Amino acid sequence: MDDQPKRTTEKMCDPCLVEGKKEESTNFCVNCLEYFCINCARDHRKYKQSRDHTILEELPHDTTIYRAFNTFTRCEFHPEIQIEKFCIHHDAMICRYCLKDMHHVCDDVVDIDDYKKVEIEAIPQTLAELKTKCLEHKTALDMQMEEFFNNNVDVKDNILVYVQKVRDVADRVE
Ligand SMILES: [Zn+2]
Ligand SMILES: [Zn+2]
Ligand SMILES: [Zn+2]
Ligand SMILES: [Zn+2]
Repeated sequence: MDDQPKRTTEKMCDPCLVEGKKEESTNFCVNCLEYFCINCARDHRKYKQSRDHTILEELPHDTTIYRAFNTFTRCEFHPEIQIEKFCIHHDAMICRYCLKDMHHVCDDVVDIDDYKKVEIEAIPQTLAELKTKCLEHKTALDMQMEEFFNNNVDVKDNILVYVQKVRDVADRVE
């Protein structure tokens, strides 16, 4: 029996929650921005409309970047769906509806899914690099703080010396 208190950061599987079940999530789909349990992740990979989604095997600590990326890859005319193609002729990122409605006569329409997938898969790496940069900054900041603190210690010492001198003078006058 595992009666250890659960971490509050633990995410429940989103599709299971819809069904009123509480399943611990193990995966995260960066296209849907949803958490999945093992079974739902397997289903998600199985169905045609979500087969090419990028499903992370590890839960991200912070989903902000995925959310930002997701907004960025939405069609500006059809915000409910993601862009899939790039029309070279119009220099436009378009979704499948745009392709049908406005770009059906364009010859040079390319698939951007592969490009997007590569970008998304690089996110954990990008995050790691950002973290390293932050740590470097933090170290620099710590050094500055230390310097600042040391300088202040000097000031304090000087003040103490000064106060002592004033006292000495005062003692002599008395
Ligand atoms: Zn998905
Ligand atoms: Zn589930
Ligand atoms: Zn569109
Ligand atoms: Zn076009």
